[in-house]
Amino acid sequence: MALTMDQLKNKSSARLIGLHPILLSAATALIERCYTLGVPIIITQGLRTIAEQDALYAQGRTKPGSIVTNAKGGYSYHNYGLAIDFALLLPDGKSVSWDMKRDGDGDKVTDWQEVVQEAKKLGFEWGGDWTSFKDYPHFQMVFGLTLTQLRAGGKPSETAMAKVLANIDRYKEAATVNKEVKVTVNVNGKKIADGVLDNGTTYTPARAVAEALGARVAYDAATKTVNITK
Ligand SMILES: [Zn+2]
Repeated sequence: MALTMDQLKNKSSARLIGLHPILLSAATALIERCYTLGVPIIITQGLRTIAEQDALYAQGRTKPGSIVTNAKGGYSYHNYGLAIDFALLLPDGKSVSWDMKRDGDGDKVTDWQEVVQEAKKLGFEWGGDWTSFKDYPHFQMVFGLTLTQLRAGGKPSETAMAKVLANIDRYKEAATVNKEVKVTVNVNGKKIADGVLDNGTTYTPARAVAEALGARVAYDAATKTVNITK
């Protein structure tokens, strides 16, 4: 994938505005971690105002279109900046996908499942675990608050926030320690070498990759230069 981590994060930045600061921190950590794992994601929805939620609820009921939500304004954790929705970003860097079977990084674990696993470690609750209505792209952090409490103006308690924050900090620390990820390097679908993905850069034997692409590698000791020519 050609996108740098910052370019990837920029694609979600507008959707992160208005999120609760703890969700902003968790969503950012999730984007970064999934990128490192080879699963680029974007956040497609963050804060949805009550007016926006009402407009969405009207769709398929009093307005044209098909029904997309069962929640009226004030009845979604999105309305309080406590929920995010995600999608997979495809290798073209533009298209998004909700294909839950996709395994873009070829590690035999679906990309969707990888994202869900990381999000849960960060303390998110996943909409795919709900029994009545499953919302697979949806993550939320509710700090023990019901929607009734939130509609009445309830705010996360200091204690609840501290607990979630401590968990996010532990997660980030562990992710830093394991920042280097062992990867398989394929050229045209054939394994050429092992490599290490470190903070978005892949380290792998240049000769193996170059020769697989029909190029020649020569080392110039005088200038300490590796020359790849084709
Ligand atoms: Zn959602």
